[in-house]
Amino acid sequence: MGSDNSSNNSLLNYILEESMSKDHVIVMEKLSEPKHDEDIAAELNLKATIVRTLLNELHAKNLVEYERTKNKKTGWYTYLWKKREDKIDEFIQSYLTHKLDILNKQLQVEKQGITFACSCNRVSLEEAIETNFICPRCNETFIEFDNEKIIRKLESEIRKINKLLK
Ligand SMILES: [Zn+2]
Repeated sequence: MGSDNSSNNSLLNYILEESMSKDHVIVMEKLSEPKHDEDIAAELNLKATIVRTLLNELHAKNLVEYERTKNKKTGWYTYLWKKREDKIDEFIQSYLTHKLDILNKQLQVEKQGITFACSCNRVSLEEAIETNFICPRCNETFIEFDNEKIIRKLESEIRKINKLLK
């Protein structure tokens, strides 16, 4: 990763939208050059407080940094925000690694044959037999459920992420 900037950017946007929000993507896209938060707000026609909140959240993820300057006349601080190009790969990598871990755990659970379901839970045949096919929590009957589709979907997501991590 890292060699192809445009595909990295679209991957970053995808991950930002999935893990944060579309607004974070839009703010990041405004930072192709360093900008003051109030200028970003004006460009996006958003309140400066909203843009600052978004920037602070991106800052918590290490994706942006700022330079603080004190205006000598007013005594107020202004903040010049910059994208941290050097941290983007790391962010993508750690997000995908974490997601891969979760998906692999889900896949393991699915492969243990939890093929019976009520509206509040999914259990294995053994567990369903133990409770006479009645869910002890919601009192519904456990119905057999084909999780082949779920398994295939998890496997394809895992494959995609593995490719991205190479
Ligand atoms: Zn239930």
